[in-house]
Amino acid sequence: LDIEEFRRRGYEAVDRIADYYADIESHRVLSVVEPGYLKKLLPDNAPEDPESWDVIQADFDNKIMPGMTHWQSPNFFAFFPANSSFEGILGDMYGGMLNTIGFNWLCSPASTELETIVLDWMAKLIGLPGQFLSDGCGGGVIQPTASEAVIVVMIGARDRVLNRCRRVEGKSEEEVAMVANRLIAYGSDQTHSCTHKAALIANVRFRSLPTDDDFRLRGETVWAEVQNDMDEGLIPFFLTATIGTTSSGAVDAIDEIGEAGDVDQLSSLWLVQVNGTDIWLHIDAAYAGASLICPEYQHLLKGVEHADSFDFNMHKWLLTNFDCSLLWVKDRKPLIDALSLTPAYLRTAQGDAGLVTDYKDWQLGLGRRFRSLKAWFVIRSYGAKGLREHINKHIRLASHFRALMAKHPDLLAISTPPTFALTVFNVLAPLPEIEGVDSATLTRQTLERINASGEIFLTLTELRKRPHIRLVPGSPWVEERHVEKAMEVIVRCAKEVVAEMMA
Ligand code: PLP
Repeated sequence: LDIEEFRRRGYEAVDRIADYYADIESHRVLSVVEPGYLKKLLPDNAPEDPESWDVIQADFDNKIMPGMTHWQSPNFFAFFPANSSFEGILGDMYGGMLNTIGFNWLCSPASTELETIVLDWMAKLIGLPGQFLSDGCGGGVIQPTASEAVIVVMIGARDRVLNRCRRVEGKSEEEVAMVANRLIAYGSDQTHSCTHKAALIANVRFRSLPTDDDFRLRGETVWAEVQNDMDEGLIPFFLTATIGTTSSGAVDAIDEIGEAGDVDQLSSLWLVQVNGTDIWLHIDAAYAGASLICPEYQHLLKGVEHADSFDFNMHKWLLTNFDCSLLWVKDRKPLIDALSLTPAYLRTAQGDAGLVTDYKDWQLGLGRRFRSLKAWFVIRSYGAKGLREHINKHIRLASHFRALMAKHPDLLAISTPPTFALTVFNVLAPLPEIEGVDSATLTRQTLERINASGEIFLTLTELRKRPHIRLVPGSPWVEERHVEKAMEVIVRCAKEVVAEMMA
């Protein structure tokens, strides 16, 4: 495409994007293609000769679009949402225009500086303590995903312990390696698998701790397990607490956990092991962190002053196109110590003088996108008020859904205390129960039938090994009528499954 052709095709693309959203409901939320469908439609080798845009565009329409799941559809109630917005799309378009690779300040001063400003804005909006702001020892950075955020901070936490062994205790590298072998990270039995994966990548042990009846991790559990592990010669160094777990939206008791992992309580034991360090407390609020923009949810941050890092995804519930995971640390030094390597070709005068942030030292890769642009567009165009309305709308719709569910007490039951816009429920077995027609089987089969209908998309989870259905109104386009339709589909499918199994 030359400039004029791009202009024409670009206008066309914007029209097509606008049409897609204007008509979003006409798309079946789940695709019906079979695994491997695309291989049959595309050639085995890349084309030798250039192809015309018309042909490429037609293939996008006819071959790619049929294989899409429509995450922005108002009938998408699965997983957690991945909101887009026109401001987010425009941010990505301008990001694509500049295609800057802002790994250090000089690579694009605006990209680095805007990111710092946007992260400070958001930290204040969600009520994080001042230590997480950039003007002290802390600061924020945009990671691609919450999973990468936890890898980054776990590596920082690991190095913090090992560096203390080296620098404070004067341990040899052999002794440091022995300490590294004894490190253990924790999550709960409800923590997202990304913490376990981070532990695999950081090459440390991981233990998931039991939660209480409401699926919350409690301080006394942490304290007891940490002590046990220390008695066994292990070195607890990292713990993820969650605000809004994936399966049930539970909020861990951060205040209790923070105190349990605090240096004051552990110091006598720690002194023996690693000279007085404490456990790095990471808060994963990937989905529910967005709700903290509403002051009425900020009490959930109780105890956050104990945390070393905090992460939430603007790309989930805050109208910012994927990817945009906001990570804050109270002390940036451990990250930079762990992740900074600056060969001659990456050195800058500003970096050498310590005048600037070089975000390459806060992340896994070197290159990085100009993600703050879309976040900045979104925050400014909606304002904090507009963002709060967005969150409150989904919370209201979730309440509406639960009110509708209450009309079917013999068929459907809420499984866990409702949190945020997430409802977790199951299908009840009829009374008297018939052998084989149990709630778990009915729940699984109902979910399969719902998704096979293509009318709505929901996901299944397991709590204490029993299946439950999750429903999250999260699309920016969802309205009351979609939630009402969702309930109709659920009731219809559940009744059909019950009737067939009873027959
Ligand atoms: N943490 C929680 C609580 C989540 O629910 C999820 C995904 O839904 C993640 C982490 C992983 O998010 P990401 O895809 O940004 O890595």
